[in-house]
Amino acid sequence: MSSLSGKVQTVLGLVEPNRLGRTLSHEHLTMTFDCCYYPPPLCHEATSKEPIMMKNLFWIQKNPYSHKENLQLNQETEAIKEELLYFKARGGGALVENTTTGISRDVQTLKWLAEETGVHIISGAGFYVDATHSAETRAMSVEQLTDVLMNEILHGADGTSIKCGVIGEIGCSWPLTESERRVLQATAHAQAQLGCPVIIHPGRNPSAPFQIIRVLQEAGADISKTVMSHLDRTILDKKELLEFAQFGCYLEYDLFGTELLHYQFNPDIDMPDDNKRIRRVRLLVDEGYEDRILMAHDIHTKHRLMKYGGHGYSHILTNIVPKMLLRGITENALDKILIENPKQWLTFK
Ligand SMILES: [Zn+2]
Repeated sequence: MSSLSGKVQTVLGLVEPNRLGRTLSHEHLTMTFDCCYYPPPLCHEATSKEPIMMKNLFWIQKNPYSHKENLQLNQETEAIKEELLYFKARGGGALVENTTTGISRDVQTLKWLAEETGVHIISGAGFYVDATHSAETRAMSVEQLTDVLMNEILHGADGTSIKCGVIGEIGCSWPLTESERRVLQATAHAQAQLGCPVIIHPGRNPSAPFQIIRVLQEAGADISKTVMSHLDRTILDKKELLEFAQFGCYLEYDLFGTELLHYQFNPDIDMPDDNKRIRRVRLLVDEGYEDRILMAHDIHTKHRLMKYGGHGYSHILTNIVPKMLLRGITENALDKILIENPKQWLTFK
């Protein structure tokens, strides 16, 4: 269909899909998250401005979005280079870097990290949630937004010649805003023309993923090449999850390593821990969806880096995979989830 057909597009150019190896489908290597700063409880305001130290680390782990420095992942490029080398040494091959416009995408840094580490990095085109849309973005028609997305994949992002290889994460709030709806429609239109992979960040409500898939379907998207991120915090009910799975999109459990008592962005949600995530993946495998599951950590703050006592980008390979084997998920299913599914998803049609 296009010159991209049958290939994966990384920040260093096109690669054969078989070269990727074990792939994390939703990560961030450089971004800022000030858009989602969450004010701390009144008596903790001083802590939110302190540098990260051992004595406040537990507080930051429990209130990650209330600590200003914690939201600046773009300050850790050297540490992240080391962590990517560690990931590679543990059998990692590739990752999708989902930072889009609005949270400080930096494709030049991604290119440098790919060159320095040999890890394949696929960058994301498009826009994060409405709260980060510029006045210019909000004023654009669906056609204009489609042009922006196609340009980032065909010619390069942010004024460079470094090209994105996936659309997303496309940010959606709950309720979905009009500007976000137009971006979703543009995503579907660009995907129909390019045959490219798409990845969505849904709003924090169990109805959000259903609504988003319907908007995409109506606009002509290829749902089989679309990932719904963050299912761990979005659809907690088993029956509802199996109903959603029938749409045929990829089902992503991408908050591995996140174990929170209080989920600041939606206090109604009890964030599942890793053991619960593993049980959910086992359920989906048992129900016949092993071709549709993807996994990642979605690291987007400093405290989850190994440098700050966090789990880092190798947690799934080092800790989750052995536990999954113990819980009856087969080696064969894990190869699908970590190698085959991301490869199929990322290959242009
Ligand atoms: Zn993300």
